[in-house]
This record gives sequence, C-alpha cells and structure tokens, in this order.
Amino acid sequence: MTAAALGHFLGQGFRIRLVESEEIGIVGVGEATIPQIRLFNQALGIDEDAFVRATQATFKLGIEFLDWLRPDSRYMHAFGNIGRDSGLLAFHHSWLRGRREGVAADLGAYSLNNQAALAGRMQRGPARTAQVLPDMPYAFHFDAGLYAAFLRRFAEGKGVERIEGKIGEVVRDGETGDVAALVLDGDRRVEGDVFIDCTGFRGLLIEGALKAGYEDWTHWLPCDRAMAVPSARAADLTPYTRATAHDAGWQWRIPLQHRTGNGIVYSSAHLSDDEAAARLLANLDTAPLAEPRPLRFTTGKRRELWKANVIAVGLASGFMEPLESTSIHMIQSAIERILKLLPGRCIRQADRDEYNRQADFEYARIRDFLILHYVANDREAPFWRERRATELPDTLRAKLELWRGSGHIVREHEELFTEVGWLQVLVGQGIMPEGNHPLADTPPRAQIAEYLDILAQLNMREVAQMPTHADFIVAHCAAPTAVAA
Ligand SMILES: Cc1cc2nc3c(=O)[nH]c(=O)nc-3n(C[C@H](O)[C@H](O)[C@H](O)COP(=O)(O)OP(=O)(O)OC[C@H]3O[C@@H](n4cnc5c(N)ncnc54)[C@H](O)[C@@H]3O)c2cc1C
Repeated sequence: MTAAALGHFLGQGFRIRLVESEEIGIVGVGEATIPQIRLFNQALGIDEDAFVRATQATFKLGIEFLDWLRPDSRYMHAFGNIGRDSGLLAFHHSWLRGRREGVAADLGAYSLNNQAALAGRMQRGPARTAQVLPDMPYAFHFDAGLYAAFLRRFAEGKGVERIEGKIGEVVRDGETGDVAALVLDGDRRVEGDVFIDCTGFRGLLIEGALKAGYEDWTHWLPCDRAMAVPSARAADLTPYTRATAHDAGWQWRIPLQHRTGNGIVYSSAHLSDDEAAARLLANLDTAPLAEPRPLRFTTGKRRELWKANVIAVGLASGFMEPLESTSIHMIQSAIERILKLLPGRCIRQADRDEYNRQADFEYARIRDFLILHYVANDREAPFWRERRATELPDTLRAKLELWRGSGHIVREHEELFTEVGWLQVLVGQGIMPEGNHPLADTPPRAQIAEYLDILAQLNMREVAQMPTHADFIVAHCAAPTAVAA
C-alpha cells in the first residue's frame, strides 16, 4: 500500500524502491476493512469492481458481535448513520427517551446498514425509496495476499522499483545516526534518504537498528496470540464480519468469494495453543482448507513511530487485535500523514514530533474503543472477570463518565470512530446512561413513537428492494473462479 501510494503521488524528483523477500513473505492475514479503504483505492484511481474481482472480495456493512455481553447476546457495529438527528439533538437521545417510554425498537432498527446486513442485502449509491435516507457506507472483506499482489503490479506500473532480497544488515551513518543503507543478501546495498519500515512484526529498522522502544498495552488488551485458518466458501455470503466471543478471547469469520477467513484471538495466559486450535476448528461453519496457522503479538506501539529517517508503517509500527478491522486503515492513515508531512532532504525534529503526536492520538483512541468491547460484560470466565476489573485509561474513563450521565458522546478531532460507532458498542455492551439530553424530553410521547416508527419503516422499505449480497456480486464483480465454483 505504501509503495503504491508513494509511487502514485510522488512524481518527478523521487525515486521509490521497494525491498521485499519472497522467502520471508507477508503475514497474509488482514481480510476485513473499514469504509475508508474505498478512499484509498479511489485516490489511487483503482476501479472498484476490478479490485473486488482481483482480490476475491465481498462487501462489508459492519461487524456483528456475538456473545460479547453474555452468551447468546448479539449486536452489530454497523457503518453509517443511525436514525436522524433533529436539529442539534443527536438521534440517540430521542431513542433513549423512546426506550424509556417503551416505544423504541432495538437500536439496529434505525440503522440502514444494520438492517441490510442482517437481511444479507447490498446496494451501492443513493437510496431508492426515500430521499431522506443516506447512502450505505461499506467496506470490503478481501484476500490480503491478492490485494498485496494487485498493489505490487500497480506500484510497478507507477515506476516503483521492486527489489527482491533479504535485508541482512542495516547500516547507520556514524555521525547522524540515520539509516544510510540496507545490505541485501550479504553484498547488495540499497541507499536512501528516508526509509519506511514495513517489515512487519520484526520492525527491522525502527526497532532492530534504531531501538525505538515499545509501549506494551497487554494489561488493557491481553490477547497475545491468534490462529488463522481458511475454510470453504460459505453458502451464506453475509455482508458483514462476525466476531464471536469465547472464554478467553474471540473468533472471527470473514466471508470471501472463494473461501471463508477464520481466526481465533486469545490470551495465552487463559488458553493453550492446542485448546485454541481445537476451539477454532470446532466453530467453523465450513470445512477447513488448511491447518491453523499460529501468530503471536504484543499489543501496543513503538514509542516513536518516526525516528531519525525511519518511519514505521503497518505491523512494524505496532499492533492492536483486529476486533474493529483497524490495522489496514492505520496503514492508510500513516501513508496520508507521511505524504502530508513529507520531509525534504533535511528532516526536522518538528516534523517527527508532529507525525508521532498524530500517530499516538490515533493509536490511543482506537485502543480505547477496543477496550470498550471488553470492560462491561456478564461473562463468567476468569478472562472476562479480569476485563471488568481492569483499570481504564483516563481518556476512556472520561468518555464513559460523559455517557453515563446524560448520554453525551463527543468525538475529538480526527478520532477514527464516530459518535454512532461508540453508541452501538456502548449500548451493545449494556452500558446505558441514566438520562438523555433534556431537549429529547420535550415532544409528547406519541410524537417520539411516531418519529421512531417512521425511521424504522423507511429502512425496512429500502432494504426490501435491495438485491441479495450474493446476487449483487454476481451482477457487478464476481471473481472468475468464484463464479465457476
Ligand atoms: C491475526 C491477525 C489478524 C488481522 N486481521 C486484520 C483485519 O481483519 N483487518 C485489518 O485491517 N488488519 C488485520 N491485521 C493486520 C494486517 O494483517 C496487517 O496490518 C497487514 O497485513 C500489513 O502487514 P505488514 O505489511 O505491516 O507486515 P507483513 O505482511 O508481515 O509484511 C512484512 C514485509 O516485510 C518483508 N520483510 C521482512 N523482513 C525482511 C527482510 N529481512 N528482508 C526483506 N524483506 C523483509 C516481508 O517480506 C514482507 O513483505 C491482522 C493481523 C493479525 C496478526
């Protein structure tokens, strides 16, 4: 992604080289995204349907959380708006009032994405039945390996020089401490002014050479292992990711055109690898196509994501579990930051500080949102009891305080998750406020009831005329092998 974007946006005067090792390969997981990925593809001029075909992608309208509050509970974090605000009054205050009065349906009834997802439907573009409804935002599930190959071709077409080789040594300038060159396979030297470290969990430059240090967030998010396994294509091509909680973590299910991506995320202090593999395989809804592949990680981030002349992107910069499909998005936002703060030959500390400040903010707010999924639960296992007792970061505690009183949710600056994102997880996890905004108390009960009812009906009517997700793919962007299958 980084090479493709730099190749696309930086023209004359820049020479971009991409060093990769086929012997090492890529991590190869990372199949669920959020709607911002569309902006990335659009900015690069990539045709959406061609991309879907090339990556065996499906459409994603949100994430369904099963068993998170307690066994047999479910809710959805759907993309897009919920209901309609009335002037200054955010919709959820009217919903909170309606709920108190016994005239409101579940929150999901007011989300077009939620309704379409559960009905297995998909459409692009403006609503067909009522102009007041917004478009449905969507993201994709895709095969990460195919996306990497797709972008490699794209990058090479933009003049990026790809160098196959294994980095054995990182040479630093004795005076400045900057990275001066990479030595490949013992003799080839690749020199550069700025190095973007995309070496994955290894962090070969940012940590191996520059010792940037790592902030460990395991005390907040203790899952430290995953196992991934592909299984056969599901008959039911759900347009959403499913995240199912289990005693010591959770399991993902991501439907693609040619297969289903599955994985279990768990805390090694609470579950052995053998138990995790057995649980993963026992909970597949289609036949496994390979052995489970183990992955280990430490949740957290580099203390400095940009140090000297090295900027860490992707897994080299840090990692948070894929509960809200944020990692690929964070690559995208890192690329945007790099392009906006692109240094000349002379890098100033102010550039680095600003980059690191923005990246720290992004990391911390996503971290808080992930912790939110764990803090309130009625589950019995030790892993979940410990999550309830965890001391929260101040930023998250302040957000919860604000919500618990009158149901206020404030999105700060460029925070990734919107008010309605927070709303759905707060409500889904059973964290309810004592009251609502006083303005929502003004209309008579019958008026609130009618308002809520109309909004839910509009969504139902719109969803009823949408094609199924599977039919939509066949009509627009079926991958050749998927059609044959
Ligand atoms: C279990 C799990 C599930 C995930 N699920 C999601 C998800 O649903 N959604 C999401 O957005 N993200 C997800 N992610 C994150 C996502 O997989 C990564 O953000 C993404 O794949 C990018 O990885 P990367 O390029 O940083 O690292 P990698 O894919 O590991 O790539 C590292 C690159 O560096 C090269 N390299 C390394 N060492 C050397 C060397 N010595 N010499 C030469 N080259 C070298 C490798 O060849 C490779 O090309 C998940 C991650 C994990 C672990």
